[in-house]
Amino acid sequence: MKTLKGKSVIITGAGLGLGLAASVELASQGAHLTLVDYNEQALMEAHQHISKKYADANIIAISGDASKEEDVKHYVQETIKEFGRIDGLYNNAGIEGRQAPLAEYDVNIFKKVVDINLMGVYYGMRYVIPQMQKQKYGRIVNVSSVGGLRGVMNQTPYVATKHAVIGLTKNAALEYARDGIITNAISPGAILTPMVAEAFRQVNPADPKKAEAEYAQANPTKRLGLPEEVAKVVAFLLSEDISYVNGQVIAIDGGQSNSY
Ligand code: NAD
Repeated sequence: MKTLKGKSVIITGAGLGLGLAASVELASQGAHLTLVDYNEQALMEAHQHISKKYADANIIAISGDASKEEDVKHYVQETIKEFGRIDGLYNNAGIEGRQAPLAEYDVNIFKKVVDINLMGVYYGMRYVIPQMQKQKYGRIVNVSSVGGLRGVMNQTPYVATKHAVIGLTKNAALEYARDGIITNAISPGAILTPMVAEAFRQVNPADPKKAEAEYAQANPTKRLGLPEEVAKVVAFLLSEDISYVNGQVIAIDGGQSNSY
């Protein structure tokens, strides 16, 4: 199904995890892709993997840090140069930081989480929206988390920034829908990616698989989610079909956030 045929989409954090899975899905639906990641090795491998799988896909890969304003300007400009327009932004790059209670949290790591998870998402919108306004069309999907809906023990900067991403989403939805720009957020639960594997290693260094199994027990589905399950929703939110759903936060968590 080529729902996104010819659409130009920037994906941040495209090298691994949710960004990689979404990039594969978007390529399968015919989108032109700008893959962005600061992990050059992962970026190169993602580019090769998707190009091999979808030989007719139009893809550029740009090494860049979503929390550096100059890098963001650069990959936005390169996308316009290559594809002539930007139809979608998957504002996905993010980090968890370390796990520690609020008063013991390392201040520099706290600032880094804010720089990437909040400022990075802001810069993406800041530099993509003017182009989308010119086109009178755009789709933005910001990545929050269930940590943007609820507190999560020992993850204060993550939770604070993921709540903030929802604030950015709601304001952009109010300010730019008149220009044809639709902005939504997703709040994934625990999805099996390298980031989540690292979180389980921190929770139980001796037996991360045990931590994972215990976590899955609390979920109505009794399992963790898969990156491909998130990717399908993201592709829909980046499509023309989402034209009257704006400023919403879609939990992708097996229903766990409904539980008291
Ligand atoms: P991951 O660590 O597995 O992959 C993230 C990718 O983003 C990596 O390739 C990394 O190099 C890249 N990246 C990180 N910071 C970057 C930056 N500043 N500039 C460019 N690239 C950067 O993580 P993931 O699990 O795929 O998470 C992706 C997003 O989804 C994050 O925002 C995360 O908070 C969010 N999220 C993930 C889950 C989950 O369960 N996996 C749940 C909720 C929210």
